[in-house]
Amino acid sequence: MRFVSPALKHIVYPVLSRSGYFRYTAGAGPAVVTYHGVFPAGYEIRNPALDGNLVRAESLRRQLQLLKKRYHVITPESFLGWFKEKVSLPPRSILLTCDDALRNTLTEMLPILQELGLSCLFFATGASVGKMPSMLWYEELYLMLLDASEPIALNLSEAGISIRLTARQEKHTGWWNLVERLSQFDREKRRKLLDQTRDQLKLSANWRERFVEDSTLASRFLTLDLAGLRQLAAAGMSIGAHSLSHPILARAPDDLAWQEISESRRVLEQALGQTVWAFGYPFGNAATVTGRDLRLAEQAGFRCAFMNAQGGFGATINRFAVPRVHVTADMSLSEFEAHVSGFYRALRKRLLGGGEVEAVVGG
Ligand SMILES: [Zn+2]
Repeated sequence: MRFVSPALKHIVYPVLSRSGYFRYTAGAGPAVVTYHGVFPAGYEIRNPALDGNLVRAESLRRQLQLLKKRYHVITPESFLGWFKEKVSLPPRSILLTCDDALRNTLTEMLPILQELGLSCLFFATGASVGKMPSMLWYEELYLMLLDASEPIALNLSEAGISIRLTARQEKHTGWWNLVERLSQFDREKRRKLLDQTRDQLKLSANWRERFVEDSTLASRFLTLDLAGLRQLAAAGMSIGAHSLSHPILARAPDDLAWQEISESRRVLEQALGQTVWAFGYPFGNAATVTGRDLRLAEQAGFRCAFMNAQGGFGATINRFAVPRVHVTADMSLSEFEAHVSGFYRALRKRLLGGGEVEAVVGG
């Protein structure tokens, strides 16, 4: 769980940020930050758990301006050169990354990156090499549960799933339980089970259509198709793989985990005609990624692979578990710098002990 204190957020972080303490005490780098997209104009935040991983356009601009002014934002290729050939990097180097390749990365995020002359490593799933509009399945499931009236009774006998949720507040726990259980199946089987879920929740067969037809919802929830992904690449952005279908890898059997990791590299390379050297683990925290998955990423030919927690300057960098700072919608600007500088990670360790840090749900 993220450690949040109002006194830190409203008093300590702003003072330390203004005084330059964060940047002068930042440990060895590089540091890596993770975004998950930018809210399209006019989008109303539906639910903090669902939307908490995206940021507002204005927040992104202010965060990137701060990084440009006080740190050194490097290109993904410089990061690779540092890994591969030990090419030295400027002090306080930061790599920008963004997971999931939602449509808003092209329409909302790219213009801000271009305005500031920055590049970013985007992690796309196998869905982005297709032509059909696609949603992240775990977001689709969350939206279905939000729309369903209680009590919710689900019986997916093929998957051995039988759950009953009687209160609104149980939806979040029930949802994550389903995400864990459905991650053991491949994309096709999971699609079938999601359709059964929609029927059992008494949602109409065309329930999903409004996310395709409404341009604001489409920008928030749909992933880029191949044309969109090619536009990102043509704009000078780098593309990495984020698995075929975004399961919790730790819940997938060996053959499925291998397919999700290695095939995502193959299909993206084939579709884009370029080398895909980086992998971003779906969800990307210690509860969702195992040592086996790190080995599979290496065996699949990636040069490095990224987690989604424990980041900031001074973090230990393992090539196949590169830590990142997970940027969330509720972060203030000085709080963002506290995370990037490594101050937050060090403080949390001191106050709450070692071990796994963030229980990141999105990713
Ligand atoms: Zn993701």
